[in-house]
Amino acid sequence: MIESKPRVRLLSAPIAAFIFLAVSLPAQTSLGPIRLEVDTTHAPQKFIHSHMQMPVQPGSLVLYYPEWIPGEHMPDGPIINVAGLKFTANGKMLPWRRDLIDMFAIRLDIPPETTTLDIDLDFLLSAAASGYSSGASATAYLNVLSWNQLVFYPKGYTIDELTFVPSLRLPPGWQFGTALPGAKRTGDVVDFPPATLGSLVDSPVLEGRYFRVIQLTPGETPSHEIDIAADSQAALAMTPEMEMHFRRLVAETGPLFGVRHYRDYHFLLTLSDNVAHFGLEHHESSDDRDDERSLIDEDERIDFAGLLPHEFVHSWNGKYRRPAGLISNDFHEPMKDDLLWVYEGLTEYLGVVLTARSGLLNLKQSHEDLARVAAQWGNYPGRKWRSLQDTSDSAVFLYNADADWENWRRGTDFYEESELLWLDVDATIRRLTNAKKSIDDFCRAFFGGPGGAPAVRTYTFEDLVSALNAIAPYDWAGFLRTRLDSFAPDTPSEALANSGWKIVYNEEPNEIEEARDTSRKHVTLPFSIGLWLAEDGTVDDVLYDGPGFKAGLGPGMKITAVNGQQYSADALKDAITDAKDTKDPIRLIVTNGEEVATYLVDYHGGLRYPHIERDSAHPNYLDEIFHRQTQ
Ligand SMILES: [Zn+2]
Repeated sequence: MIESKPRVRLLSAPIAAFIFLAVSLPAQTSLGPIRLEVDTTHAPQKFIHSHMQMPVQPGSLVLYYPEWIPGEHMPDGPIINVAGLKFTANGKMLPWRRDLIDMFAIRLDIPPETTTLDIDLDFLLSAAASGYSSGASATAYLNVLSWNQLVFYPKGYTIDELTFVPSLRLPPGWQFGTALPGAKRTGDVVDFPPATLGSLVDSPVLEGRYFRVIQLTPGETPSHEIDIAADSQAALAMTPEMEMHFRRLVAETGPLFGVRHYRDYHFLLTLSDNVAHFGLEHHESSDDRDDERSLIDEDERIDFAGLLPHEFVHSWNGKYRRPAGLISNDFHEPMKDDLLWVYEGLTEYLGVVLTARSGLLNLKQSHEDLARVAAQWGNYPGRKWRSLQDTSDSAVFLYNADADWENWRRGTDFYEESELLWLDVDATIRRLTNAKKSIDDFCRAFFGGPGGAPAVRTYTFEDLVSALNAIAPYDWAGFLRTRLDSFAPDTPSEALANSGWKIVYNEEPNEIEEARDTSRKHVTLPFSIGLWLAEDGTVDDVLYDGPGFKAGLGPGMKITAVNGQQYSADALKDAITDAKDTKDPIRLIVTNGEEVATYLVDYHGGLRYPHIERDSAHPNYLDEIFHRQTQ
């Protein structure tokens, strides 16, 4: 479909000046508005109907289905779930053909004297509780509507040049929340004023039978609210204490960023064990999905604590300031992921900082979480062959990698390893300026601007280095490139040491890891026998070259017995402890497909869990970083 040059502005060339793109208001366009009627009545039955009326001219037409989904960093528009696609003009069905190279492009010939094309499709809602916004999104009681799944649009326009007039039919009596402005409800139909394609895709709608709205900044402008849809009424019961922490989360972004780039903000929170779990950022909202009991069960609450802070940070880092390569002006032009260690990595770091400052995790829990991350990346063997930069560059396929051999292949490590990289940046700014400046100063400068309606300012690696130099002059390019490009750099231990702490291992479980294991039904033992297990003994991953690896264990095998006893997590942990005082190996009965065999793990170091301890050789910057900035 590359026969004619698309009318898109290419932003990937080096850019000296900042580029501002208005993304909220309809731009001048030669194409009239596209009417879009979406019927979600059948969402519990796992399909949604979409009807479009598009102004057209006679002749050949190429239509696109959104391919590169903002925030997902890969070409994963769920075209596989489009069914019943039908094009009609003047009451007659039109033939169509898919482009043979470009699977997201449809070609058709518009007959003479045709001014309007009717497009109908059913979007099939995935039932698998994995994946991102195209993973499971609907249950009997709720639905997360992503508009990109329901539209085709003509080639040759930017997302800001195309205007849609959307309407939405809800299942009877359900409530909804969205950042899309101007909603008018009549019965179960919601009408919206015209919106650009960019703004529409940026504004998902959360619908539900069990629904609750929590105002976090009542009476203030801009407003902030959490819209919650859950699979039960009981799951909506956020405690007043937790509500207070979320109010503080909003407040703490004030001194951190200085200005807000949204008109109002909606956390769209889905609580269900029957949908895919992830968060997806938008300028004025976030699509946040987690376990049904995330607000009411303590282990689930701990596992959930960092989700909203991370997605909220993205309104500044990712949506407003965006790497030039991550702009796709028509959702079709490929994105480049090389700066995801900033887009996702700095967001991960600031999310952790805000989780601590807001009290969503207390100080000890924040220490334990950092210990978990530093231990994981300090011991990951895949770092010996794949650089942190390459995890970013390879994001398109690493997002879809399975858990098996993740420690050797590496996964999307540009999240948590970069958390340590940015902690090191923060500690280094503090050291260079005698604690007069910090990454907070960088954030206010880098993410500043007029504020208000959403906008995008792109940046390059060089822009980032200049912004750091303006806060504290230093060889920031060298600092970053060493940690990004070399193999197994000491970032985990250096980041801790430079912020005044060091890692230690003992037999006391790590509080955060323990809560995550309970919530996720896992058993995490990489620092002793080198295994990550599911609750039932299935081996998820084996530390490359660790004790389990040397015994011959591999992903997908299942441990059924430990030292002559039925497998349980406790039986395995007891066996690891008992092996400390003996030379006998730990005996495992393991099934590997059709084979049942005995594996001997020669390990005698006991249980080892990570924690951090104060290192008095360096100032305690970490606790200053975690300390709340508002009253
Ligand atoms: Zn993110």
